[in-house]
Amino acid sequence: MLLIMFAASLALTVLVSQPRPEPVVIVAIDAGHGGHDPGATVSGVREKDINLALALLVQEKASTHGLKVILTRSADAYIDLVKRLRLAESAGAVLYVSIHVNFHRDQTVCGVETWVDTNATAESLRLAQALQNAVVSATGAQDRGVHRQALYLRHSSLPAALVEMGYLTCPSEREKLLSREYQERLAHGIVQGILGYLRR
Ligand code: ZN
Repeated sequence: MLLIMFAASLALTVLVSQPRPEPVVIVAIDAGHGGHDPGATVSGVREKDINLALALLVQEKASTHGLKVILTRSADAYIDLVKRLRLAESAGAVLYVSIHVNFHRDQTVCGVETWVDTNATAESLRLAQALQNAVVSATGAQDRGVHRQALYLRHSSLPAALVEMGYLTCPSEREKLLSREYQERLAHGIVQGILGYLRR
């Protein structure tokens, strides 16, 4: 009995004195455009500003879920696209999510879509689908699906997807994209999408 207690207290001492750090998963979040490249601009609303606000919100929310977010930019600056990928890779990120808002000539076109490169891997597609599902479910926005197009993401060695969170040209969506409450929902969706992808 005494021996058991001794062993137990020894085990406890070891546990207390050597706390095992939680493994941190690093993910890269890219706020699209920046600096001299404003992205889409509608009624004075610049895509680059919304992208950055969202990236910062995602970083904040992700930290409460054991995720460490590397931002490709945290200010209004333009970074070369391939450099953004290399930055993510060298920081040890396990995936890359680029955040954008969309533009259409037809202002009745509204909703969320996610893009992967035409040569995307199955993992990139799985990441894109997880993001698309989670963002749609967090916002109630129209689900415009996952699509392929030639993107700089083809130069990524990491699973990579690009989320178009809504249309600046859709008046009701533009208004929502500017509201903190809707931005919180979008950020929540992106974090949930990443967590869903990581859970497999
Ligand atoms: Zn964009």
